[in-house]
Amino acid sequence: MSDQSSNPLASVMDGLKSWARINSPWVIHYNSGSCNGCDIEILATLTPRYDLERLGVKLQGSPRHADILICTGPVTRQSKERLKRIYEQMPSPKFVVAVGSCGTASGAFRGCYNICESIGDVIPVDVYVPGCAPRPEAIIYGVAQLLEMIKSGAPSAEMRKAEEPAAVEG
Ligand code: SF4
Repeated sequence: MSDQSSNPLASVMDGLKSWARINSPWVIHYNSGSCNGCDIEILATLTPRYDLERLGVKLQGSPRHADILICTGPVTRQSKERLKRIYEQMPSPKFVVAVGSCGTASGAFRGCYNICESIGDVIPVDVYVPGCAPRPEAIIYGVAQLLEMIKSGAPSAEMRKAEEPAAVEG
C-alpha cells in the first residue's frame, strides 16, 4: 500500500484508481463445477436484455485485468486448483461474487464424491447470491451491493482474510 501522507501523487492516483474501479469494474466469470444453470443466468445478465454493462461492468477474459470474479457452482476436485490460480492472478484489491446455492454451500451437489467445498471455503467471497438458479435481477443486485461496499470503503473479504491469524500446523 502506498504511503499517502508522504506522497500526494500516490494519494491522487489511489483515488483515481478507486473511482475507476467503482464506475467501471472489470469482471471475469468462472464455473468451478456448476450444472451451467447459473452460468446461463450470468450470461443473460451480461448480454443486452439485462445489460449489466449499463452499470459500467465489463466482462473480459484475463484474471490479470479483472477486479471482480463472478463464480458459480460447487468446487470440484478438478477445478479447485484452477479457481485458486485464477484468484491469485487477479491484482489486488480484488472481489468475489459467488452465484447460486451451489456456490454458496454446495447446494444440490453437497456430499458428492467429486465435490471439495463451496467457493467460500477455497477463496474469500465478498457477496453471495443464493438461488437455484438466481435470476439476473438477483445477480445485478449482488453486484450493485458489492459496488456499494467498495464505495463505502468497507474492508473486502480479501483484506479480512489477510488480517486473520495464520493457522499453526502440528
Ligand atoms: S444453484 Fe442450481 S442452477 Fe446453479 S449450479 Fe447449482 S444446481 Fe445448477
